[in-house]
Amino acid sequence: MTEVRTRFAPSPSGFLHVGGARTALFNYLYAKAMKGKFILRVEDTDQDRSTEASFKIILESLKWLGMEWDEGPGVGGPHGPYTQSERLHIYKEYTDKLIGDRKAYRCFCSSEELEGKKKQAESMGIPYLYDGKCSELTEEEIQNNLSKKAPYTVRFRTPNKIVIVDDMIQGKVKFESKLIGDFILVKSDGFPSYNYAVVIDDALMQITHVIRGVGHLSNTPRQILIFEAFGFPLPRFAHASEIVGSDGKKLSKRAGATSVLAFRELGYLSETLRNYMALLGWTSPDGKEYMEDSELCSVFDIERCSKSPATFDVFKKLKEEEKETVDFNKLDAAGLSDYLNPKSKLNWMSNKLIRDVPIERLGKEMEPFLADAKIPNEYKSGTHPTLVSILDSVRVYLDRLIQAPPYIEEFFLEDLGFENDEAKSLLLEGNGTIVAKTFYEQILSANPTSPDQYKEIMSGTGEKTAEKGRTLFMPIRSITTGKSHGLELPILFTLLGKEKLQKRMEILAKVANITLN
Ligand code: GLU
Repeated sequence: MTEVRTRFAPSPSGFLHVGGARTALFNYLYAKAMKGKFILRVEDTDQDRSTEASFKIILESLKWLGMEWDEGPGVGGPHGPYTQSERLHIYKEYTDKLIGDRKAYRCFCSSEELEGKKKQAESMGIPYLYDGKCSELTEEEIQNNLSKKAPYTVRFRTPNKIVIVDDMIQGKVKFESKLIGDFILVKSDGFPSYNYAVVIDDALMQITHVIRGVGHLSNTPRQILIFEAFGFPLPRFAHASEIVGSDGKKLSKRAGATSVLAFRELGYLSETLRNYMALLGWTSPDGKEYMEDSELCSVFDIERCSKSPATFDVFKKLKEEEKETVDFNKLDAAGLSDYLNPKSKLNWMSNKLIRDVPIERLGKEMEPFLADAKIPNEYKSGTHPTLVSILDSVRVYLDRLIQAPPYIEEFFLEDLGFENDEAKSLLLEGNGTIVAKTFYEQILSANPTSPDQYKEIMSGTGEKTAEKGRTLFMPIRSITTGKSHGLELPILFTLLGKEKLQKRMEILAKVANITLN
């Protein structure tokens, strides 16, 4: 059997967003599952939009996600170079051959002329197709234009036929080539068009499976026609379903199609994002969702990919007014956190993995998030025993690593005080001091060790004082933290432990000038 060879072919004109990363992942997983090769190819023929910065971000994103490529930039391989701008001589060789075989021709029409014809078609409400003006130029006319150095594009002489894309996910899809027209293979700057370069490269790199987003399905008949013109064997095509947001609409650049590196900053582990993305359009044979990497790499199969749109439920549905103003890519992790859907599948998976990973790994992963934490420097190492033990007791409550530092900070907090007058007044107003006293007494006479037990004590305090909601929780928050908002109290209390908690209440009572007993 021939070796399976898949490729991810990003254009370096932005960051790697979830849609692109899902495409990369499907290619990666399929190659792994079939014991084949995963190739990375950089499609930078759009010189105006391609940047070095984007290239670097894409590579970093793939590496963070653990998708190492077998052939490609930095790694090399037998079919390089793997960056299209370094392959222009190869495309030229093939273009000359196509022109020689009369399967392509030079088009000297000026862009103004074409633009005018396009406008005319538009005004008549008909789709624009090139009229083939240059398709039958005589050799003399061509030579004449070339000697005048007239700029030209190279167009494909599209044969008139029905093209059937036999797609592994979308099924058989028919296209009529007469609706495509003679399209451009080489632009006037000498760079190949996407559809052209992709075919030469997929053929020469011996790609067996082209897996990509369904948005590219309409490009496929053009590509098939080029494969056929050269007599190259066709790869199998698989176009993965569209990804939609919680509102059922296509992910937009501003809200949803977020850089995968933002997920690293939000404190998700890379395996979580991978596991989650694998399920965007694919289901495992036994319906299992939470899977280890090794399992994903062995059970993934294109046959189990679905045509129906996949829902990316990571972000909340935006309010009408937010749709105009919000741009996720301009927000930092804290800002972006506000838009996360707390009940997303991603959070569920993330919490599970944070509980499951070896604590040493978690400590290491935690380090970048501790850099700015207000804790003594010696505890900022992910291997410090105290830090590790705090992390170990708090991890079951975390959906993301970024949620841990505030708990760790509270744990180390020494000079307790009220952060502002509001925080203090929450304790001193109304029944606040009674609530605080009652809570203190109840803690003294109990031995709580879990968030549930602390919750119970808080409700007990509520019953005794006939307070509930804000007037119950705020005085408790104030007397234990000196703040008016913040962490989940039962979790914090469990982490601090009864003794430390008691001490904190005594200190804050002194600052507020009240007595607790
Ligand atoms: N460079 C194309 C893109 O980024 C690749 C499409 C393909 O996989 O053929 O969309």
